[in-house]
Amino acid sequence: MIDKACIFNIQKFSIHDGPGIRTVVFFKGCPLRCFWCSNPESQAGTPEQMWDSHKKAQSLVGEYKTMDDIITEVMKDQPFYEESGGGVTLSGGEVLFQAEFATELLRRLKEKGIHTASETTGFAKEAVFKRYIEQVDLLYFDVKHHDEQKHKEGTGVSLKPILNNLQYALHTHPNLVVRVPVIPRFNDGDENAEAFARLFNRLDVGRVELLPFHQFGEKKYTFLDRDYAMKDIPQLHTEELDYFKTIFEEHAISCYVH
Ligand code: SF4
Repeated sequence: MIDKACIFNIQKFSIHDGPGIRTVVFFKGCPLRCFWCSNPESQAGTPEQMWDSHKKAQSLVGEYKTMDDIITEVMKDQPFYEESGGGVTLSGGEVLFQAEFATELLRRLKEKGIHTASETTGFAKEAVFKRYIEQVDLLYFDVKHHDEQKHKEGTGVSLKPILNNLQYALHTHPNLVVRVPVIPRFNDGDENAEAFARLFNRLDVGRVELLPFHQFGEKKYTFLDRDYAMKDIPQLHTEELDYFKTIFEEHAISCYVH
């Protein structure tokens, strides 16, 4: 058993990452390289230097934490979880990049009666993915494109293992939320919405959540001394995704914007 995981943030009192009040544990490391990524500091699997604008100095992003460190930290807010119907959400990066540790963390939280949620790209070996989702109460699964080639160009990895894992989750997981981050010049527009709808009809996905592109990550690219591909591209607003909703609804897929 791996005894430590590289974590880049533990965020308390989150109300956007699952039901109730939650603590979100952000795992560092991601096998994808989405050109619009709003958490570029999460991509590398080890701690790295980043400019800290508050301290006006370089600081280290990411820290190795033991299972006990994390559990002790998240259990401090147990009364809030109980009162609000909340719990703990694992996020990233891609949490399956450190799947063995994350799976055991979910198991230990379940033992303590804590509700768990997880965000994932689903990019992992099938056996690893199956073991992981058995332990999580609520699973957010992001699908970034409907087309293999475009998916590779935009994220650096194949869509095939993601769709295989999605199919498995659709058949086995009782609380699955399928999400599409809508990214200008990548997967937006009527044609893409139509193609997503056809894919979701084929897979029998009845409900989809849309995540409109935002610019929250822009400054981090400067702090990491990296180029940002989405510079000057305006963020999307909820009402701009009405055409997505209309097209999905024509295909009997209910759809809402996060
Ligand atoms: S999957 Fe998420 S964390 Fe990984 S590169 Fe894409 S947007 Fe960033």
